[in-house]
Amino acid sequence: MTEAIDQGARRAILEAVEALRDDAVRMLERLVRCPSTLGNEQSALNEMARIYHDLGLVPRRVPTDPAALAAHPGFSPPLISYDGRDNVVAVHTPRERKGRSLALQGHVDVVPEGAADMWETPPFAPAIRGGRMYGRGAGDMKAGIVSYVTAFRALRLAGLQPAAEVQMQSVIEEECTGNGALAAMLALPRTDAVIIPEPGPGLPAMYSAEVGVVWAWVTVSGRPAHVRDMQAGLNAIKAANAIAARFEDYQREMNRAERIHPSFRGVNHPVNVNFGTIEGGEWNSSVPTRARIGMRVGVMMGYTAAQTKADIERLVAEAAADPALKGATVKLDFKGFMADPCVFDMNAPIVTMAKRNFAEVSGGFLRDYPATGLTDGRFFTLYQDTPVACFGPDAQEIHGIDESVGLDSMHDITRTIALTMAEWCGLEKAA
Ligand SMILES: [Zn+2]
Repeated sequence: MTEAIDQGARRAILEAVEALRDDAVRMLERLVRCPSTLGNEQSALNEMARIYHDLGLVPRRVPTDPAALAAHPGFSPPLISYDGRDNVVAVHTPRERKGRSLALQGHVDVVPEGAADMWETPPFAPAIRGGRMYGRGAGDMKAGIVSYVTAFRALRLAGLQPAAEVQMQSVIEEECTGNGALAAMLALPRTDAVIIPEPGPGLPAMYSAEVGVVWAWVTVSGRPAHVRDMQAGLNAIKAANAIAARFEDYQREMNRAERIHPSFRGVNHPVNVNFGTIEGGEWNSSVPTRARIGMRVGVMMGYTAAQTKADIERLVAEAAADPALKGATVKLDFKGFMADPCVFDMNAPIVTMAKRNFAEVSGGFLRDYPATGLTDGRFFTLYQDTPVACFGPDAQEIHGIDESVGLDSMHDITRTIALTMAEWCGLEKAA
């Protein structure tokens, strides 16, 4: 089995990461320039294929096939078609398998940029200020992808390579279904561990648990009327708001201390209900006919996505039965996340090894982080029983305005992954 790598190799790897520092920043710029929001991931996926090719690996496209995945418990109902948006993976095969295999996983999709005019510099034009790179996706999680790629490059530059299989998986839809991760995971052999360099809560952290998430869509059709006969109409926007209000009590209830799993103790308000979108109405002088709200409901450890779905169905049915909504038609759809929560094993050797290497290269430490959002890590944990080390660079304002990542921190994560990969997989001379 693998033993701690010798000091010479260790020094050579760290020097190689140092030599690749500027290259890594350029690679991150290229990735941030790809506006890889839902449905627009092609440029980022093509960039990943180029990057894998330049590592001397053979990139392979892995389609996300809803028909093939539908029966899997980790599957979420899709929002849009998967045509032309295949995940990209690459596999390093050693000459001799001596160590433990490893998957390096990252999502290329990013959330919408929001109000672009509120950004100091345009969201898809990466800009460096004060040692940080600004841009949508810079922190979540393109810097993490750059870190694992650069870690592998550094081993090669040092004349070495992992002495075990290393998979690299670049996937879509981490931010809305996770189906890309599920497809890629199932297309490849199980590995002995997974590293996912997702950003933490703005300080060095190792994900120790994460909530589940359910996405639901409520469509209300009211009765249209001219505003002069406003009483004759039923305002779909007001009705949608009345339904949304029902979730305030639910949210309070789900955050009561006795419902919080021990892994989330001390986390302020871990179960969040977010109304993320509202669309509807036709004209300022017409009572609106139809309104649709999109919501995201958190799932505490100890509960399942299926139970939360049932809760949402009950609350919406109760709201629809309210006399104030008489005459309205209420439709409920589940599209997007149907994700269960999970707890990561903080005693897994990959986790303790990564923590130790991070402490050694940075002088800091990765504190345990129970997350009120989710990552693709759940697939490997829940459905494969594969240990996951989920930790990444210091990112600020992810999903917000002026998202950024600290470049020194990205460098620390790269060094941590490089040493951990070397130690986990063992080393052999580069091919
Ligand atoms: Zn992410």
